[in-house]
Parts: sequence; C-alpha cells; structure tokens
Amino acid sequence: MWAGRPGGAANASASPPLADGRVYLFGVADAPEGQRSPDGELAEVRRRFGGWHDPVPRLLAAASEDAVMRHDIYELPPLDTFVRGRCVLLGDAAHAMTPNLGQGANQALEDAVTLAALLAAHPDTDCALARYDRERRPRTRMIARRSHRIGAVAQWSGAPARLVRDWLLRLTPSSAVLSALDPVLGWRPPHPE
Ligand SMILES: Cc1cc2nc3c(=O)[nH]c(=O)nc-3n(C[C@H](O)[C@H](O)[C@H](O)COP(=O)(O)OP(=O)(O)OC[C@H]3O[C@@H](n4cnc5c(N)ncnc54)[C@H](O)[C@@H]3O)c2cc1C
Repeated sequence: MWAGRPGGAANASASPPLADGRVYLFGVADAPEGQRSPDGELAEVRRRFGGWHDPVPRLLAAASEDAVMRHDIYELPPLDTFVRGRCVLLGDAAHAMTPNLGQGANQALEDAVTLAALLAAHPDTDCALARYDRERRPRTRMIARRSHRIGAVAQWSGAPARLVRDWLLRLTPSSAVLSALDPVLGWRPPHPE
C-alpha cells in the first residue's frame, strides 16, 4: 500500500509477518492530489522505494500490480461535537486522522466500546451521549494531533533536518519510544458508575 501526500519526501515501513506469512509495506510520498502513475503504481513504488535497504527491494520485486493500493491521505479538521440530538459520529466520520500512528481503526473501536458501555450504564440517553462526546473528543484529538506531527516529521524534505531526525531516532531507546506512546496505548474501557 502506498499513499500520496501533498507537499518530495518519502517514508516507508514494513509490517511484521501476518498470520499467513504474508507481509504488507506501507509507504508515503509527497505527490499532487489525485495523481496517477502512467506506467502503473507498482512501477511508481519501485521507482520511489526500490533503492532502499534490504528487504525492501526484494519485497517490491516479488509484488504484483494488483497487490498495490494507492490512496491520497486526508484528515478531518477537529469537530466541535460528535453528537447532535440522537445522531452520533464515531470512527473516521468523527476523527479521520493520518495513518502514522496506526490508530484510525483502533480509535473507531474505542469509540464503539465507549458508546456501548455508556448507553448500557445510563438510563438517560442524552446524558450517555453527552458523556461519550466528553470522553472521546479530547482523546481522539490528542491522537490525531500526534499522528499528524509524526507524519510531518517523517516527511521532512530538507537534508540537514532529515539527518538530525534520523540521528535522534537512532539514539532514542525503544523504551523511551514506548513510554511516549503510553497515553495512546494505555487505554482501558470505561467503567461507568
Ligand atoms: C494507508 C492507511 C493505513 C492505515 N493503517 C491503520 C493501522 O495500522 N491501524 C489502524 O487502527 N488504522 C489504520 N488506518 C485507518 C483505518 O483504516 C480507518 O481509521 C478505519 O477503517 C475507520 O473505520 P470506520 O468504520 O470509521 O470507517 P470505514 O472503514 O471507512 O467504514 C465506513 C464504511 O461505510 C461505508 N459507507 C460510506 N458511505 C455510506 C453510505 N452512504 N451508505 C452505506 N455505507 C456507506 C463505506 O463503504 C465503508 O465500508 C489506516 C488507513 C490508511 C488509509
């Protein structure tokens, strides 16, 4: 999968092996909105990422055209509310975010779990929906903002800035990276009184 992003920088990552031994690659490159590659997206991906370190070139050499999905990336501006009357937004409809933290679907699931728990616990639906909005909007906003920031840094195009970024990343212990993610990953389902 690869994604165009308005702005000439590129970044990419590979998934751990999936249950059936397959793997997916995710790459982002700055490109004009809606642009398509005349000789196909696989050729474009190979042009952009084929010179990267092992195993990227080997994986791209093994890929077929129909395995490549290309999307432009959009994010939703922050909404003032997720609730109007009995209409409730959840998932991307409420907080479509950049994919850099891998949290879009996770947040949709958290929304659903929270909403179900609050509706089950509160006899007053309006009260449950107001609390859903109070609980979910700040958290999803915080995560969308972090994801956006990571995407922006990953796409830095100036060589000096990229050098400093890559050097700092190499120096950062993975324990520090993990603890910085605590507020994102440490979510627990609500226990409404
Ligand atoms: C490149 C990329 C990588 C990503 N990686 C991750 C990741 O690693 N981890 C993660 O958690 N998230 C990731 N996401 C985000 C994740 O895919 C989305 O956040 C998630 O799918 C949102 O779920 P949703 O149910 O809100 O919306 P969707 O999955 O968009 O579901 C909405 C559904 O509603 C249907 N629909 C739309 N309009 C109508 C209509 N009028 N009537 C009936 N049906 C309609 C659509 O066809 C669709 O099936 C990634 C996204 C992208 C683009």
